Amino acid sequence: MCAGWYSAALDNCPFCTMSPDRVTLENQHALAFHDAYPIGRGHTLVIQRAHVESVFDLGPAEQAGVWDLVAQVRARLAQASSPDDFTIGVNDDVRTLPQAHTHVIPR
Ligand SMILES: [Zn+2]
Repeated sequence: MCAGWYSAALDNCPFCTMSPDRVTLENQHALAFHDAYPIGRGHTLVIQRAHVESVFDLGPAEQAGVWDLVAQVRARLAQASSPDDFTIGVNDDVRTLPQAHTHVIPR
């Protein structure tokens, strides 16, 4: 299941069990991929490599890594489609999915 590209993986977490083929951008601490249920063109998710329910369970370097990848995704989407604006939202300590994740949605 976990091929080492993901740390602290959970077998029943859709993010931890996601195929590495879906990853579009990554850094040391985080991964980006297209949302499986996009609400608009370019809708992207950013997740930390560590399985945590809250991004506030991460250390400062990991939090910075997540935010840096959000910035990279935003810049790439801005260049690709020149949206009017972005909605960027952290789903933290969520009940529907067991792992915190950040939506980057061009609008
Ligand atoms: Zn997970």
